[in-house]
Amino acid sequence: MEFFPRMSTINFGVTFCNTLDSVNSQPYDFSLWKALSKVWHNFQRHAVRQIGNGRNTNFWLDKWVPHNVELLPSALRDQIDTTLSVIDVLNQDGDWDVRFLSENLSNDIVSQVIALPAPTDVGGPDILGWAGTNTHQFTVKSAYTLNHAIDMPHVAEGDWKTLWGWKGPRRIQTFMWLAAHERILTNIRRSKWGVGISPTCASCMRQDETTLHVLRDCLQAVRLNSDGACKGNNGISGCGGLFRNSDGRWIKGYTKKIGSCDSFHAEMWGLYLGLDMAWRDHISYLIVESDSKLLIDMITGNCTIGGVIPTLVRRIRNLLALDWQVQVRHTWREGNRSVDWLANYSLSMDSFSCSIVESPPSELRTLLFDDVSGACMPRNVRLNL
Ligand SMILES: [Zn+2]
Repeated sequence: MEFFPRMSTINFGVTFCNTLDSVNSQPYDFSLWKALSKVWHNFQRHAVRQIGNGRNTNFWLDKWVPHNVELLPSALRDQIDTTLSVIDVLNQDGDWDVRFLSENLSNDIVSQVIALPAPTDVGGPDILGWAGTNTHQFTVKSAYTLNHAIDMPHVAEGDWKTLWGWKGPRRIQTFMWLAAHERILTNIRRSKWGVGISPTCASCMRQDETTLHVLRDCLQAVRLNSDGACKGNNGISGCGGLFRNSDGRWIKGYTKKIGSCDSFHAEMWGLYLGLDMAWRDHISYLIVESDSKLLIDMITGNCTIGGVIPTLVRRIRNLLALDWQVQVRHTWREGNRSVDWLANYSLSMDSFSCSIVESPPSELRTLLFDDVSGACMPRNVRLNL
């Protein structure tokens, strides 16, 4: 193909002004230019640089080491200067600054870099080339092969020798291999087997459970259950609540004796305290479960008591309106048995202050296990026939 080297020569001029990644076409442009601008992104992904004077090649972001990968993902430090050019990584003698390289990159990569001749002004400008061929010359065949490899699902690119040479536990190596090959048993894989399994992630209930979702994107929810308890009519009331992670494991509980009020007021207190605590603990995604349908309707704005919104409901609504994600769900009383226990426990306390329960009391362990395992409890439901 003759035209591509010529076209790319034109663009190489542009490249050194660092506009390689922004090639646009206008409606009045030649159709060849329009076609090229469409495939430019793919072309640019495979562009590599051969170092001359090292002035126009970004040390961390451009592909200039022999394996045609950027160095940024291999950086050993969290803070790096991404404006660094390759020329900046030389010592006073004009040779590679091995100390800087060793502090920032693994020995494997350092040895690849120092094997390259250090940039020098007599080397002329850096040259852009094509990663698909050994000669760095562009061919349509190599472009097709490279793009086809990327579009193919489940083809894992990677240096497997490095993975198997990694000195860590074998089971973690195996896990990394499985993850890279999309072999982890995720819900989306299981759902494809047609066994009536939902592809949705059970932890966040928001997206399909793919490998990437499990390992990177899943925003794990914290669950909050709260409840109120009341001793006799207008007796002393208390409330309690419980934070658990998405697997149902205990994070912390709280319990507070309130004073003299009705059971609905106690429910409101239970939820308000829990939400306030969650916000102050910087929880970003919270699932709130309450067995009070009335309370849920009130805080979600579906009903009021005689047109009046109680102060605590107002406060709860204010908390819900803050910048975080809160889902409110109704749960049957049986699902709330652990917090029912905590709310009743508050009644036995001397003080009226809120106490944090860091680990589950022994009396609660069986209840917690039942709640987590979804134990089946008999329930009377009134049917309106
Ligand atoms: Zn998830």
